[in-house]
Order: sequence, then structure tokens, then C-alpha cells
Amino acid sequence: IFIFQDTALDSITRFATTSFSDTGSEDSCLSRNQSVLYRKSSPHKPSSYLVSKLRSYEELHKRCGPHTDSYKRSMKQLKSGQIDHNSTDCRYVIWVADCGLGNRMLSITSAFLYALLTNRVLLIDQEYEMVGLFCEPFPATSWILPDDFPFKKKLRGFNQKYSYSYGNLLKNNTINYSTQLLPSYLYLYLCHDGDHDDQLFFCDQDQALLNKVPWLIMKSNVYFLPSMFLMSSFDQELDKLFPDKETVFHHLGRYLFHPSDRVWELITKYYHDHLAKAEKRIGIQIRIFDAKTSPFESVMEQILACTKKEKLLPEVGTGKSVASPSKNQTSKVVLVTSLSRDYFEKLNKMYGEHPMKTGEVVAVYQPSHEREQQTWENSHNVQAWVEIYLLSLSDELVTSAWSTFGYVAQGLRGMRPLILYKIDRTIPDPPCGRGVSMEPCYHAPPIFDCKAQSTTVDIGGLVPHVRHCEDISWGLKLV
Ligand code: GDP
Repeated sequence: IFIFQDTALDSITRFATTSFSDTGSEDSCLSRNQSVLYRKSSPHKPSSYLVSKLRSYEELHKRCGPHTDSYKRSMKQLKSGQIDHNSTDCRYVIWVADCGLGNRMLSITSAFLYALLTNRVLLIDQEYEMVGLFCEPFPATSWILPDDFPFKKKLRGFNQKYSYSYGNLLKNNTINYSTQLLPSYLYLYLCHDGDHDDQLFFCDQDQALLNKVPWLIMKSNVYFLPSMFLMSSFDQELDKLFPDKETVFHHLGRYLFHPSDRVWELITKYYHDHLAKAEKRIGIQIRIFDAKTSPFESVMEQILACTKKEKLLPEVGTGKSVASPSKNQTSKVVLVTSLSRDYFEKLNKMYGEHPMKTGEVVAVYQPSHEREQQTWENSHNVQAWVEIYLLSLSDELVTSAWSTFGYVAQGLRGMRPLILYKIDRTIPDPPCGRGVSMEPCYHAPPIFDCKAQSTTVDIGGLVPHVRHCEDISWGLKLV
């Protein structure tokens, strides 16, 4: 029997005690209640305003979600192509996937915050590769876009060139800010390679137009929410929701992403088999984007320089036998995650075969080495989610610059990680540094300042809580 800890974060998932049975899901979502047995309770408390906003969102989703009468009426409107103000007051944002799991979780979170701010219902076009990764986040309803959605099969093919995207409609002057007869749906392209017109989404004037369109179909693979903090349409509400700007992903990510029972079983088994007994768990996430600029020897040297500088791992001794355990000996476990096995092998060799000068015991583990990213494979995404979650259970976290996989782990954990700075053949000096916040970085923000109608303004200097990222100089993050 499990009893909720009395932390404010639990109030975010208060509905865990309500029944999910009428969603038709067989999944009991063990992780929702059991996660506090594994995770440290969060020192970051959500505002009561956020908690009440989530409760109202849950009501909205239940009323407008798939298969409800309101949904059916909205669907008629969608099919007709025209807005009928008398049909229903439900409006939707449909999220369409692209890229790896980390990118997806960050863009879903951004789409969810957009839904919260604009009173829309978020539906996920999850496709086969994401099936069964997460529990349903909202009680007594579903966030999965139903299979009978009219253009479901075409959603995946939607790309930047799509002539009906909002950006292209503006570009071709098919719609403008004074258009009276707006369509019942629009496509939004918010991926890393969107152009100026796509990114007009982030202007208040455009939000006023989009607000009238009941169905928005959004393709995104980035954490675009920092740019919403630069918009006057949203800034007052965001201030109330998030007095502490550094905790946006931490709260929303913990609220949305609960491992399904199938994933939870893998996480908890691995945790008990390898991590549970250690006094200190150190997660090292190694993501290589370019093998030429990041050769193995250099990255390995960078990792060791970082763990030495930050005193995370003891220095390896030279004696023949393991030093006898001292009284204040600690046991550490290093959880390595990487597509490659080489880093684990080296660390395991160093710590497994040599004595520690301090007498500390260090064990090194790596759950998988999948070699290549296979985003379209369901089991590959399951493994990725298992490892992101395991990393988020670490006491200390070392992540790779630019990696959304690491961003999700640090955000769920609720800590500023040590970032291994981007390597370009030579090892950066210093090799790693503490993140200025635990928020993910928005890799491809618009450089256009809507208010000033200019591209020469530094968007990282407009407000104190939206800054450039330490790992990507042109990126944006909340601090
Ligand atoms: P990013 O590319 O580092 O920003 O992270 P993403 O998660 O968006 O995409 C990388 C994908 O490659 C992951 O989702 C996994 O599918 C795979 N991948 C990358 N690193 C690892 C790892 O350490 N472990 C596992 N299991 N998969 C990984």
C-alpha cells in the first residue's frame, strides 16, 4: 500500500486517485504512484495557480476530448472547412511528431503549455513508434488523436513546404490579418528549420488571428516554449503560472510523462538490480552528434577531465590490489547512457580493475548500446525512455551539450547538470560546467522581434528570464 507524500508536487498529479477506467486503457499506471519511492521529492513547488489551471484543463479535456459530443460537433466543423461559431466552444491543437524521443517530449510540453494558455485541448498524433510509452496524463479521457481523424494518414508527411501551412498562406497572401473568413483548421510548422513566416506564430498579432481557428495542427520537434515568454499575449498569465521560470519543464514534464506499466517494469527492475544499493548515483549521458569532430579518445579525455575537476569520481590508484575499505568509504555507481559501448568499457576497465586511492567502491553500468538512432522503432523508444528516466534518478548528472535526451533527464530530475561542452576535435577548457538553469534549450528560436519589427534586436537580452543557452549561443532558455 502506498501513501502519497504530502508534497505540493503531488497536488499536480492529485487526480492519480481518480479512476482512469473509463479511458478504456488497461494500464493502471503504477509509475504515477510509485515514482516517489524512486525519485527524490521535488524541492520546487508549483504555484497554486498552476495547480488550479491544470485542474480546469483536465475538465476541459474531459468535456472536449475524443468521442465526446463536443468532439463530434467540432469534427463536423473541421470537415466542412468553415468555422461555425454555434457548433461548439472546444478548440484543439494536434501535435505531430518528428525526430527522437527527447525532442518529442520537449515539443509536446511546449504544445501543452500553448494549449493551457489558449484554452485548447492537446491531442497527440502518436503513431506506432510511440505507442505504449506513457500513461494517459489526463483523467477519464485520452490525449491520443483517434484513428478516424480525417487526415490522420497525411499528418506525417506534412512539412515546411506544405502549401496550406500558416507560414505559406501568409507568404502567398492567401490570408492576412484582416481576413474575415478563416478556415476551420490551419497547419503550423514549428520545427527547427521553420522560416520567418512560420515563426510569425510567435507574434501577438498572429496569435489574435490563430485564436479564431478551432483546429491547429502543429508539427514541432523543438522546445519552443521560451519564445512564448517573450509575447505580451501570454506574459501576465505565465508570470502567475510560473513565478520561478526555471521550473517550467520540471513541473509540466513531471505532470505529463509517466512511464507506462511496461516501461515502469523495465525501469524499476534495472534500478533494483544495479542502482538501488549505491550511496551515490552519477549519471553520465554521452551523445555524439559528429564522430569526426568528437573522436572517442578526445571525448573520453573530456569526460575524465570533467569528473576529476568536479570531484565526481575518485582518482584511479596504481597498486595491484584494491585498497582496503576505509571507514568513510562510499559506494558510487555510474550509469552511462550512450549509443556506443566504448565509453562504458573504458570506465569499467578503469574502475573495475584498479584500486581507488580513497578506497571507494565504484561500479559502472550501461543499460544498452543501440549503436544507431532508430526513432521509428517502438522498442528502441521504450529503451530510450527507460534510460532517460533512470538518468533522472541520479544524484549528479553529466550531460552532453545540444542533447534533448539529456535536457529531459535533467528537467525531470530537477537539477542543473554538468554540461560537457561541445567538442570540436580539441577538448574545451573547461571541459564541462554547471548549467545556468535546469530548463531545456530552444535550439532554433526566431531572431525576429515582433514588437520592434526587427531582426537586429538581441532576443536573449529582452527580458531577464529568457537568456541564450550555455551550450548553443543562439538558443534560448528560461533561467
Ligand atoms: P538528441 O538527439 O540527443 O537531442 O535526443 P533525442 O532523444 O531527440 O534523439 C536521440 C535518439 O537516439 C533517442 O531518442 C534514442 O532513440 C537514441 N539515443 C540517443 N542516445 C541514446 C542513449 O544513450 N540510449 C538509448 N537507449 N538511446 C539513445
